[in-house]
Amino acid sequence: MTAQIIDGRAVAAQVRSEVADRVAALAEIGKSVGLATVMVGDDPASAVYVGSKHRAAEAAGMKSFDVHLPATATQAEVEDAIRALNADPAVDGMILQLPLPEGLDGDAAVEGIDPAKDADGLHPFSLGRLVLSRHAPVAATPQGIMRLLDHYDIAVSGKKAVIVGRSFLVGRPLAMLLGAKGVDATVVMTHSRTADLSAEIRAADILVVAIGRPRMIDGSMVKPGAAVVDVGINRTDDGLVGDVDFDSVVEVAGAITPVPGGVGPMTVACLLANTVMLAEQTAGPETNGH
Ligand code: NAP
Repeated sequence: MTAQIIDGRAVAAQVRSEVADRVAALAEIGKSVGLATVMVGDDPASAVYVGSKHRAAEAAGMKSFDVHLPATATQAEVEDAIRALNADPAVDGMILQLPLPEGLDGDAAVEGIDPAKDADGLHPFSLGRLVLSRHAPVAATPQGIMRLLDHYDIAVSGKKAVIVGRSFLVGRPLAMLLGAKGVDATVVMTHSRTADLSAEIRAADILVVAIGRPRMIDGSMVKPGAAVVDVGINRTDDGLVGDVDFDSVVEVAGAITPVPGGVGPMTVACLLANTVMLAEQTAGPETNGH
């Protein structure tokens, strides 16, 4: 059996095109849409991610604002930059590129973002609303994963979903989404202290891996026919690889996301979707079609 390859680039292109249409509709009533990024330091991987977010925002017709602070910036300087963006009416959504350099508190800085501009959906207000299944920007990577499952008609209700990794960026919000009423997966969230990780993985109908360990999950570990979502992005001598050993898992799984070209493009697209949603909320209820 060879798995269906889930084409994140194609689905992301569709999401981005829908976003562009909504940005154009706002422009017609005189509302521009602005996305700001705050980056601290010069981490090369972060610079690549920030660059791609700006390009995607501009391609969707948004204005993008690039705030770049030196690695020597203080916590107060980072929080001041965020406060300035909170106050700027041209900015509808912002993201703080994480992780911050050593010594800075990313969680505290994220709390300084106005929840009405929380494009990443990582503010405690947004995450709390997610727990309550209330409307709010949904964390971009988990949102992207849900959209991929939906797009490919992968059955979720009543299925066992095993998430490897419990970060607040991916694992925890995704557990809320997959286990929500109406979605109805039975979710197991695993981590580095899980007693028998192999047994949990083997039982998964839907397996999501977000750990940051190159190719840790191989085909012998996966239930035949499972849908496998590889969130990992690892830079190795062979280039970018996921947390899943694609070549062996593709022979066993029912569906699989590649790296690159799976979850990554969806994260950027969902960041834009959150931003246009926030802009629609600012513009008023009559524009709020979504
Ligand atoms: P993180 O904050 O470092 O969390 C890693 C999680 O994996 C932790 O919960 C950790 O367990 C768990 N873990 C680590 N080693 C493990 C092992 N051997 N067995 C079981 N669990 C293990 O990572 P993250 O921010 O979620 O990112 C994870 C990966 O996804 C990274 O490669 C990152 O680059 C990638 N990522 C990709 C996207 C995208 O758009 N494609 C977005 C976000 C992240 P403990 O909690 O017990 O320490």
